[in-house]
This record gives sequence, structure tokens and C-alpha cells, in this order.
Amino acid sequence: MIVMKPGATQEEVDAVVERVDAVGARAHVICGEELTVIGAIGDAEHVARLNLEGTPGVDHMVPISKPYKLASNQITHGARTVLDIAGRRVGGDHFAMIAGPCTIESREQTLDTARIVAGAGATMFRGGAYKPRTSPYAFQGLGQEGLRLLAEAKAQTGLPIVTEVMDARDLEAVLEVADVIQIGARNMQNYTLLAEVGRSGCPALIKRGLSSTLEELLMAAEYVLKEGNESVMLCERGIRTFETAYRFTLDLMAIPVLKEMTHLPVIVDPSHAAGRRDLVAPMSLAAAAAGADGLIVEVHPDPDEAICDAAQQLVADEFPEYLDRVRAAAAVAGKALSEEPVASGA
Ligand code: PEP
Ligand code: MN
Repeated sequence: MIVMKPGATQEEVDAVVERVDAVGARAHVICGEELTVIGAIGDAEHVARLNLEGTPGVDHMVPISKPYKLASNQITHGARTVLDIAGRRVGGDHFAMIAGPCTIESREQTLDTARIVAGAGATMFRGGAYKPRTSPYAFQGLGQEGLRLLAEAKAQTGLPIVTEVMDARDLEAVLEVADVIQIGARNMQNYTLLAEVGRSGCPALIKRGLSSTLEELLMAAEYVLKEGNESVMLCERGIRTFETAYRFTLDLMAIPVLKEMTHLPVIVDPSHAAGRRDLVAPMSLAAAAAGADGLIVEVHPDPDEAICDAAQQLVADEFPEYLDRVRAAAAVAGKALSEEPVASGA
């Protein structure tokens, strides 16, 4: 990482970028408020050939010791990334409430849920059209029809859409409606899919694999970031432990620890961790108070009738009250819900 002097000129920055290119590495320029830093990404051998001693505008160089480079806190000097997702900010002081059904089932179920969560002040709408199911005999999602319903929900409520892509062959169709592509826990280490989503430039929410370490999660993010896509959110959604009293173990320690490791926003999914509706609120409050940058939760107008994840989806009519409690918990950590879209140019 090359740290430029305060007040370094654009020409000086360009000259360093040229030099980085010339040794076969890739330059990644980050313009902070006070300083510009340039990440030189490539083989250690290439980077070692960079001799920038005495180059105009260059202050000093810092080797990034972590295997994840672009995801590392070192590259932003500890500053947090704030994403702008279709006008909604996520990260820093901005808390995202992503809510919606597990899967898109019908027009009524989708639009009813979208209307209720939007009315309560949710930041984005979630819903799967392509579902990763443990059993190949289980409902696999409505596919293209589901995408069409998501587009209708977006048109009616204005909420940005978060939806999963499992197969790069569906990416083009999903990109027509998605404001955020969700990479599911089971695909966290599908590196070709990650790179493809990276190249699409669409913001990504990457869920932590069932048995993945935080470093592995950050390496997954690195695959997206490396393609020049800087809009990545990480999602803790419970990991597998020996405990069987509930579905997964929600690793809340991941929130402060990821914040030591990375500048990327950290979202928590208590629904999939718990597998039980009654655990979603307490875990949401704990995550928000612990400094999560947002939550992603499942909401259904009539959860008992849901095709998928019936036991864990919040009852839509109870969502406004739930969100009021989440707001208060987020405030404890100094964050406010990013409800209103940011006016363009703001
Ligand atoms: C989901 O969010 O719909 C989902 C399937 O989650 P996960 O990939 O975390 O299991
Ligand atoms: Mn689900």
C-alpha cells in the first residue's frame, strides 16, 4: 500500500498508478478525505520491483500483511466504508433493515409483505426467487416469475431489492431487478460465482459459510473486490457448532472482530441462525447493540403457511413494533436507520 503525501497532485497519483501497472501489478486508488492511498495488488515478486523511494508525492509504503488486501482495514487506515445502495446508505452511522419473505411465493404474499415492511421503515426488501434447498425435492423458488414479482414490489414501494443468485447463468436476469446480489452461505466459496458478481458491479451481500472462518469470509469478499466492485456487505448468519437446541450458533463476536479486520459493513441474519421466530427479536437487538451495520430478517404475512422456513419468519403485522425496538438498539450503538433515500448529489 502506497500512502501519498497530503496534498499530492493528481499527476503524482497517476504517475504512481502507471508505475504499478508497469511492474505487472494492479493499482487500486482510494481517495480519503485527507490522504490518497494506492493499493498495489499482485504477486509479491511484482510488487517488490516497485521502487518508489523519492517519487514525487509518495510519503511511505506499508506492506499489507493480511491475505485479504482490499477487504482489510489497513487499506482505508481504519476508516469505515459507507455504501450507497440505490440511495440508501449502509455502514458508518447508517443502519440497514433488510426485510422480506424467505422465498417469493405469490403476488399477494410478496406485495403485502413489501407494503408492510416499507410502511414500517425498512431500508430494503429481501426475497428469494432462486432458493438453495437442502433437498432437491423441496420447492426451488419461482425463478423468473419470482424476479418479476420482486420488480413489482420495488415499483410499488421504492425499496431496493436484495435477492440471491446461485448460478452465474441466472445472473443477467437477476441483475435486471436486484440492487444487491445475495451470495448464500452455501455458495460463499463458489469462487467463479463471486468473481462474476464482482465483474457485474452490482452490490453484493456475502453470507458466511456454515463452517467458515472470518478470514475465509473476507477472502470471499476479496474475490468480489478484486474485480473492482467495492460494494460488499458481509453477513453473519450462524455457524455450525455442537449445539443442537437451536439451528445454528449466531456468532455475535463476529461483529466487533470483523470490524477490527475489515472496513466493510457487517450485517446479521438472526432468522437463519435461529430457525425459530421467538429468537429473532432478542438476537436482532443484541446484534444491533453490538454495532452491526444492519439486519436481514424474514417476514411473512402468514408464516405458518410459508412454503419455506415457516418456523422462523416474523409475522408481518408484528414487524412495525419489532422495528421500533431495533431502532432503539441501533441507537445504543450510535446508528440510525437509513429509511429515506438520500437525495441525489447529497
Ligand atoms: C436466505 O437468506 O434465504 C438463505 C437461504 O440464507 P443462507 O444462505 O444464510 O442459508
Ligand atoms: Mn429462508
